[in-house]
Parts: sequence; C-alpha cells; structure tokens
Amino acid sequence: MVSGEIRVRIAPSPTGYFHVGTARTAIYNWLLARKHSGKFLLRIEDTDRERSKKEYVDIILDGLKWLGLDWDEDIVYQSKRIAENSYRPHIDRLLEEGKAYRCFYEPDELKAERDKARKEKRNFKARKYRDISPDEAERYMKEGRSFTVRLKLPTEGEAVFHDEVSGDVRRSYDDLDDLIIMKSDGNPIYNFAVVVDDHDMEITHVIRGNDHITNTFYQIEIYKALGWEIPKFAHLPMILRPDRSKVSKRKGDKGVTEYRTDGYLPQALLNYAALVGWSPKDDREKMSIDEMIESFSLDGINPNNAIFDIEKLNWLNGEYLREMDSNKLVDMVSPYLIEAGLTTIYWIETNWHWTVRVIDSLKDRCRLLTEYVELGHYFFRSEFDYDAKGVRKHFKADGTAGLLQSVLDDFEGVSRWNKDTLEKVIRDLADKLEIKPAKLIHPTRLAVSGMTKGPGLFDILELLGKTEVQNRINRAIEYIEKGEFPEQEDN
Ligand code: GLU
Repeated sequence: MVSGEIRVRIAPSPTGYFHVGTARTAIYNWLLARKHSGKFLLRIEDTDRERSKKEYVDIILDGLKWLGLDWDEDIVYQSKRIAENSYRPHIDRLLEEGKAYRCFYEPDELKAERDKARKEKRNFKARKYRDISPDEAERYMKEGRSFTVRLKLPTEGEAVFHDEVSGDVRRSYDDLDDLIIMKSDGNPIYNFAVVVDDHDMEITHVIRGNDHITNTFYQIEIYKALGWEIPKFAHLPMILRPDRSKVSKRKGDKGVTEYRTDGYLPQALLNYAALVGWSPKDDREKMSIDEMIESFSLDGINPNNAIFDIEKLNWLNGEYLREMDSNKLVDMVSPYLIEAGLTTIYWIETNWHWTVRVIDSLKDRCRLLTEYVELGHYFFRSEFDYDAKGVRKHFKADGTAGLLQSVLDDFEGVSRWNKDTLEKVIRDLADKLEIKPAKLIHPTRLAVSGMTKGPGLFDILELLGKTEVQNRINRAIEYIEKGEFPEQEDN
C-alpha cells in the first residue's frame, strides 16, 4: 500500500534518439502516477553541452505526447538549474560539515597512482586528500591548485538498498570510491545533480533502467550525507533484441516517433511496450490504457531482461486497427495515402463514404497503417505494375487476353454495377465457356489491382466503378498482347 502522494519522473538526456527503453520507463512511471493520482514529472538532463541538442528534446516531447504520456508541472531543465546555482550551496554545506573534501590530484598524478595499483593488483582508492588538514587545503587553494570535491564514503562494510523490482541489492564498500561530487570547473557531477533535483522535485519513487544501479549506490550515499529522505528505487530490466543483444539505433531499432511514421498506433505501442517486462496478474495482453492504469504495480515487473518482439507489436497494432471505427480509421490512414502521393485531403473529403468503404474492404488484412498504402494503392491510382509472379501465373500469352475480352464484353451490358450482379456475370460466363470461375477471377483481379491477393474481387470491382474497371481491363489486354512479360526469376 502506498501512502502519501506518489511523485515520479523520467529524466532523459537529450543526446540521441528516443528509444523504446526510455519510452517504457516513461510508461511505467506514468502508470504508477496515474494509478495513485500522483504526479508524473519530466526533467531534461541536458548538462552535457556537447551532446545535448534541442532537436533531441523536441523528439522526446513529441514522442511522449504522441504516446499520450502527459506530464504534470513545468519541465525541469538541468542546464537551467545549474544557471540558477541550485547545486553549489549543497556542496559547500557538505564541505563545511566535513562530509566532503577538496581533492587536489593533478590528472596525471591520479592516473599514475591508478596504473601503479592496477599493476600491483591492488584495489585503488583516490583518497590521498581525504584527511589533509584544513590549513593544508587552504594553502593549496592559495597556490591556485585546482580541485574537485569528493564525498567521503564508508571504508568498510556493505552498501545495501531495497529495489522494488529485484529485492535487496548489495555492494561492498571496497568497490565504491570517494565520489567526486563537484568537478574542477565548479559544476556538480551527474549523480549529485540527480539527487538534488530528485529531492527538490520531491520524487518518491525513482524508476529507471538497471544500468543505473551503480549510480544508485552512490546517490544513496549523497542522500545520507545531505540528511535527506531516500526515495524508493525500482530498476527496470533491459529490453533486448530477439538475438539478446541490446536495442540500438545502429542495428536499425526505431525511435519512438518512427513507429508513427511506419504506421503504428500509439495505443498499440504503449500497450506492447508496457508488456515488455511487465504483466498483469492474469496475463491479459490487449489492454486499454484504463485497464493498464488499474492493474499496474511495480511488483508485476519481471526482474529478468525482456525481448522486444516486433511480430507481437504488429499483431497488437492490427487488433487495435480492426476494432477502430471506420470513419476514425480513414482519419488515421489519410495522411499515409496523401504522403504517398495517392490522393489529396480535398479528394478524400469529397469522396468520404467511398473511402470508408475502401478502407473497410482492406481492414482484415492490414496490421499497420502503412499497409493500407501497400495493399490498397490501386484504389487511388490507375497506373500500377502487375505483380510479376501473378503475371507468370495468370496472364498467359495464349488465351488470357481473349478471356478478359469476354469479361469486358459481358460487363458492357451491366447497368446495375454492384458486386452481386458482377459475380453473376462472371459465373455465367464461366459456365458458358465451360471453365472454372477462378480462370476468370484471377486474371481479372490482376488486371484491376495489379495484385493476386486482396479484398473479394467483386467488392473491388464495385468500388472501382464500371468505367475504371473497363479501362483497367483494356490496359491489361494491351499489356498481354504486347507480350513483354517479366523474366522468370532465377530461384
Ligand atoms: N538521464 C538518465 C538517462 O537518460 C536518467 C537518469 C535517471 O533516471 O535517474 O538514462
């Protein structure tokens, strides 16, 4: 049971693309906040001036908005916090209280000592200046020697914290050195800024990737030294690719907003990403946002690394698309059709009902919004290539043109252009020619759509309309008569 207001945050560094791992961290934080009517905050950790870029901040904000992960309160920018001198007073206090000290190592000297210890297989600690007298420190400063500030860490025993996902996590103090909290340029180091920010933002639960576990050990020491309440920590397992390697842009893994470009729905990505490493107790898969909020809890997070399975995401996306109201679906698909140059918004708006019927006819086959373009382009464009395999199978030089001509002749007299009439025409013609209807259906489908699969042929014919169908069949007859068929593939 959680008491008091839950305040969580995500703290992305705007140094690269917004990947699914960060999105999932955001989702869990957001779900926890929404479940307990708490606050979900956003902090941009942009103190690395060389690597942080405004465009990456925009990508993160865009991605969060697209997923519907709305944040509370103003965004906190670490660069602004530095400018406002938010950290230095705390460092000064630790110095005054003797919990931190000035460390005067020259970089070369430190490196030499570290190398020497490594050669001698000794555990090295950079503690040379830990116990120098205040007078000595004063003297070095007067000499103008530069210094960092280090936090004194215990010298023996074990650091332990309770992780909400993995249970108790331990580390020997032998493995933790006195932590630099201020760089020689006077700026706080990363771990120090995180603690001060989380404290000032009154964060109750720090939920982040398990690559931060070592940071957590250090951060807890900072909390203790400052005498501040320590938040709860939950470290999330990694998201891996199916070959168990790390998700990475270089390997082609998409950034969050690229999923939008590629035809995914935000609710599908949100639902799927939430399931990578978390499950409700009853193993439900397709869940609405409200259901996820309702059933989310940190103890449902699996401590083992999880695999990102794009096939499952595609399946889920298809499920969401299929249950969508057709008018809404046209709204969603239209930008992709327009982007592909197949139509214009004006055209869609003036042919709305027809477009709804087209989209409906494709609905069962499409798992991604982009598939409406791939599988339905011929509804919007008369010129298209014929599927090469289909041509070899269904456009025969010795007969298909004649069959299509018969179809054309019989279509000529049809005045009520609807699928039932057209089906009857084709079946009657097949009877008359003493062939199977399929012998007419396949070449006709290829002629009017360029494809061998798709919605029912008679639905396509009805939707395209008489003139368009006639033009397309004529074009196919010409094509077959020219005889320029694609080469047989080698395989
Ligand atoms: N800026 C860190 C990152 O992008 C997150 C730090 C945190 O959540 O404490 O991984």
